[in-house]
Amino acid sequence: TKQTFATIKERDEKVEAFLALNEDKALAKARQLDQDGIDVNNVLAGIPMGIKDNIVTEGLTTTAASKMLANFNPIYNATVMDKLNAQDVITVGKLNMDEFAMGGSTETSAFKQTKNAWDQTKVPGGSSGGSAAAVASGQVVASLGSDTGGSIRQPAAYNGIVGVKPTYGRVSRFGLIAFASSMDQIGPMTRTVKDNALVLNAISGHDSRDFTSSPKQVPDFSKDLDKGVKGMKIALPKEFLGEGVQAEVKDAILAAAKKFEELGAIVEEVSLPYSKYGLPVYYIMASSEASSNLQRFDGIRYGYRADDVKNLEDVYVKSRSQGFGDEVKRRIMLGTFSLSAGTYDAYFKKAGQVRTLICQDFARIFEKYDLIMGPTAPTPAFGLGEETDPVVMYANDILTIPVNLAGLPGMSLPAGFANGLPVGLQLIAPHFEEARMYQAGFAFE
Ligand code: GLN
Repeated sequence: TKQTFATIKERDEKVEAFLALNEDKALAKARQLDQDGIDVNNVLAGIPMGIKDNIVTEGLTTTAASKMLANFNPIYNATVMDKLNAQDVITVGKLNMDEFAMGGSTETSAFKQTKNAWDQTKVPGGSSGGSAAAVASGQVVASLGSDTGGSIRQPAAYNGIVGVKPTYGRVSRFGLIAFASSMDQIGPMTRTVKDNALVLNAISGHDSRDFTSSPKQVPDFSKDLDKGVKGMKIALPKEFLGEGVQAEVKDAILAAAKKFEELGAIVEEVSLPYSKYGLPVYYIMASSEASSNLQRFDGIRYGYRADDVKNLEDVYVKSRSQGFGDEVKRRIMLGTFSLSAGTYDAYFKKAGQVRTLICQDFARIFEKYDLIMGPTAPTPAFGLGEETDPVVMYANDILTIPVNLAGLPGMSLPAGFANGLPVGLQLIAPHFEEARMYQAGFAFE
């Protein structure tokens, strides 16, 4: 743990992944573990981990990278934190992100600009950019991120690490600051597939405090890692290599397909015709849910309160105007619009119908195939400050979003480089078949 903080002090100057460090408590806990000894059944005991700053940590600031929560010091733990603590994991600090997890570059953070671990002129991706950069720069071996539309997988891809978004319901959302509740999931970000499986083992399971968490039995995700991919049927949707996907990224994914074949898998081209509607569907639904979830930040119950106010309405308006950044306001307006009486049928309701078609697309493929593969993102990491048009930024999520809309598990793992920057290979499995995804990822890596 001491060494971890020394490494953070040395390396984080360059990548700026951490928003807060938990040094005193972490060292005290490590000392305690030294004294008491560790339980050998807790495979993660004594391992220093970083946590995305939208996961609530008792006694350690949790800001969601928003001015709105700049001084929020929670009095309780997210369920995932209780679970990690029960395993004697050591929380070293909180990691930067896009404000309220809205973004794909960590540039909407109210506090600092995290950089890509490989090239500090590039974005780390987002919204879990800090969680990815901290692992990729060797500051921690594992971190937690959250993924609503790709926020674990895309930064994992941009930083050349392994990121898993579990099946919706696999991991409790209790204590995850809500963005779009029908899609949000917490998941592990690590350097290796095996580490990832071990962290998911620790955080999974039913939680009576999250009614969308699944009562399903949690298997040991590390058990079948070395079973290989012989005979596995892997689908490669042609839409995932279509327009907008950079040639070098395509090449890396085709090389990955070849490697899977060499390892004994059968890779075939398929079609997911509705996946291209994922983007508009997601940005309508996620923004609608966000506009509802973020109502609680009213300047009264939570966080930032403007002080130059005349009356109650003024408290709301000024606190929200000053406390939220531009991207968050854009989502609140978009969501409020699509939920309003005159537009509900044309937008929110329609989006829900198309979401069902996207789910059916996947279900049809999984009748015949074990896994789906493709790129995680259309390009490698782009330059800091380069993407100024929000719609262009949204379009980057086209390959990750359908997975969230359908509630499926997805993984990004390193698959070579394009122009010197890491490329992510995405694997998608049927609901609750994370173990199969890990098995294929382990064979590939
Ligand atoms: N980039 C997507 C968005 O801005 C996904 C974010 C996420 O998964 N939290 O909404």
